Formats: sequence, C-alpha cells, structure tokens
Amino acid sequence: MALTEQDKRIAIVAAAQEMDRQGLNHGSTGNLSIRHGETMLITPSGVESHKLKPELIALMPLENDAGSFEGPLPPSSEWRFHLDILRMRRDVNAIAHMHSTYATTLAVLNRSIPAVHYMIAAFGGPTVRCVSYAPYGTKELSQLVLDGLNNRDGVLLANHGAIVTGPNMQRALWRALELENLARIYYQAILAGEPIILSDAEIYQTVERFKNYGPAQS
Ligand code: 13P
Ligand code: ZN
Repeated sequence: MALTEQDKRIAIVAAAQEMDRQGLNHGSTGNLSIRHGETMLITPSGVESHKLKPELIALMPLENDAGSFEGPLPPSSEWRFHLDILRMRRDVNAIAHMHSTYATTLAVLNRSIPAVHYMIAAFGGPTVRCVSYAPYGTKELSQLVLDGLNNRDGVLLANHGAIVTGPNMQRALWRALELENLARIYYQAILAGEPIILSDAEIYQTVERFKNYGPAQS
C-alpha cells in the first residue's frame, strides 16, 4: 500500500533518529528526504534529530529553483541536491546525507572507494566515487553530486561527507550503514597494507544478485 504524506513524515523522523543511534550523524549534521508525488519532504535546517517531529518536515515542489517551501521551518540547506537527485533519478525515492566518521575520513583524503569488498555492489558498481569539494548548499555541489551518482546509489563528498539513495528509506538506510562499514574496512586495509581489488566483472555479477538481496529491495 502506498505511504501517505504523514507516513513519510514519520519515516523521515524515525530514519534521522536511527542514523544518530547508529553513529552515522550527530548534532544537526546530515539531512533526509522522501519523494511525495511532484513534491519532496525534507528535514528542516539545523535541527537535531531528537527535536524533529513530523510537522517540522518541510515540503517543497520538485519543479522549484527558488527554494519555495511549506512548513514552519526552512528546509535543509542541502535542498538543492536532494531536489536535483529526485528530478534526475526516477528510481530514487529516498535520500540520506551523513557526516559519518569513516566515510568522511576517506572524503577528506579525497579518495574514492575501490572494490575491496563485494558489498560495494550494494552501490551499483565497482567504485563509490569521491567528488570534488564545493561549499555546502550550493548548485555547484549539487552538479558534482549528480555526476558522482551516475549509475550509483552512494557518493563521497570531498571534505564533507556522503550521500546514499534508495527506492525507499529502508533501502537508503541499509546503504548508509554499509557505506560506513565499507569505508572503515578500506581505511583499515590501506593502513595495514595493500588491499586486493575485485574485478569489475565480479562486482557486476554481485550487483545483479543484490537486486534480490537485503531489506526493501523496491
Ligand atoms: P542542514 O542542517 O541545513 O540540513 O545541514 C546539515 C549538513 O549536513 C549540510 O551539509
Ligand atoms: Zn553535510
């Protein structure tokens, strides 16, 4: 059954709080959105997750370059990339942005993640790219993000953090935790030695298998 607008508001609040519990965000870092018809529901800017409530989630038309919104608080400063991803990617219905420790560690090293573990297939291919730095909230950052997410469901943002996407919030959260774990493994492996990289063919086979694996596949 299709989720109502209220269901989606509740799901965003629950997901933001879950990300904090899992150590993927802290304070008011990160933001989340869910597609709702021709609009997007998105967390308000600068609000800690424990203070979020369904009625504080902002609503924005997708065809909107001026930042128009409905709600008691302004939307996330990152509304631009949330909006642009939902416009470009009809397969994406939920987006989570995080400043999690290990993904951000690689991001400050400006390092893409290679196929050091088969779980990279959860992101659609043999790399999770790290895109160049641009200031938060800018159109420039949004353009870099769109490029980084080409055929992918995860991207690192240089000197900032990461974004994951999914057909629903459950799948996006699954990817958020997997991306942080993958980043941690890669970071540890390069400290300890030289990781072995799996072939592209191996990863693309696993991408196919992942269409039927893990939570909330569609
Ligand atoms: P907002 O609180 O405006 O969503 O910003 C947090 C953030 O992570 C900016 O990149
Ligand atoms: Zn951020």
